[in-house]
Amino acid sequence: MPQLSPRITTLNDGGSDGWEVFYRARAMKAAGTPVTELTIGEHDIGTDTAILDAMHAAAHAGQTGYAAVPGIAPLRDAVATRVTERTGVPTTRDNILITPGGQSALFAAHMAALDPGDHALYVDPYYATYPGTIRAASGVPVAVTTRADQAFLPHPETIARRARETGAKSLLINTPNNPTGTVYPADTLDGIAAACTANDLWLISDEVYDTQLWDGAHLSPRALPGMAGRTLVIGSMSKSHAMTGSRIGWVVGPKTAIAALIDLATATTYGVPGFIQSAALFALTQGPDLEADIAAPFRRRRDLVLSILARQDLVTAIPSAGAMYLMLDIRKAQLSGRAFAEALLDSHHIAVMPGESFGASAAGHIRVALTVADDRLAAAIDTICSFTAALTLEKRHA
Ligand code: PMP
Repeated sequence: MPQLSPRITTLNDGGSDGWEVFYRARAMKAAGTPVTELTIGEHDIGTDTAILDAMHAAAHAGQTGYAAVPGIAPLRDAVATRVTERTGVPTTRDNILITPGGQSALFAAHMAALDPGDHALYVDPYYATYPGTIRAASGVPVAVTTRADQAFLPHPETIARRARETGAKSLLINTPNNPTGTVYPADTLDGIAAACTANDLWLISDEVYDTQLWDGAHLSPRALPGMAGRTLVIGSMSKSHAMTGSRIGWVVGPKTAIAALIDLATATTYGVPGFIQSAALFALTQGPDLEADIAAPFRRRRDLVLSILARQDLVTAIPSAGAMYLMLDIRKAQLSGRAFAEALLDSHHIAVMPGESFGASAAGHIRVALTVADDRLAAAIDTICSFTAALTLEKRHA
């Protein structure tokens, strides 16, 4: 066999991809052991049947051939209208590329921003695919670390310093945030915008959780003065419309960037199936009530978990204002997030993500996805608390 490219064999930097606990939980389930899975960011409901009906009808109406590579015009228009309404930034079809999911949009955005060997900043803790996505675009990932006691918010001065030190070309942020649930406040976004302008960075703003906001309103940094020309927004219908398997998302950006990204799409994905795009258009035209219904269980479950945690003081939650996760501090158990997650899976058949899967900043934490029914979630959180108490006691007597 000829040699594989080092680019592809080093996508995970030779280390793990952070999903070991998840894979082990899936294997246990396949072998017949019931496992409470609080791992992956996927709703416990499927895609709404009305959306599936629209998909079916579109396929039967003949939308099974090649669809327009940039996305079908009415969907690009609908996304543009949505973005204009939500952010106030005039946005048209030419600012939109439809992609097979947010993940593909993240890769495309980095391809637009980076030449091979360019440095690309991202905030740690981070969504697990980020460093690999940057490497796939032949970039060099540079983590901007944050602190648990500051709700994992990045400091604009740290971003600016890391940009100067590395000559970075881009910064990737994500608010509302996976894995932490943190929502960046306006002053953080202002500072980030200033750091991007001062260091001539592309800002890649991952906003796939923009409908899952528990306090305040979603702020898109593309709307800040001077930022529309250097911001590429990542959107997706995976989380907002429970359409994870449909693989439908987009990039919003300057027209010249979108024109170049259409060339990239021609050379890579060749577009998104027409029947999926028609279903997405149908879903978007249902308006915000459907989105609110889909987001509601996560808000309710966040409150439920916080009410359980309030009864004890060993496990604490990072303040969260959005997204379908809670990051829990389990440092009082004196185990790494990884060791804690492995032991919890073995002894109680509850699967959570180790904080370390999302970067060094989240060590000693676990991420809980709020994606199981309320009673199962409540039982799992109770168990996590008693498990931590038992570990703490064990350590004290050791
Ligand atoms: N960004 C973030 C922060 C995510 O959590 C996810 C999915 N979990 C994605 C992007 C990609 O989502 P999709 O490709 O399903 O649109």
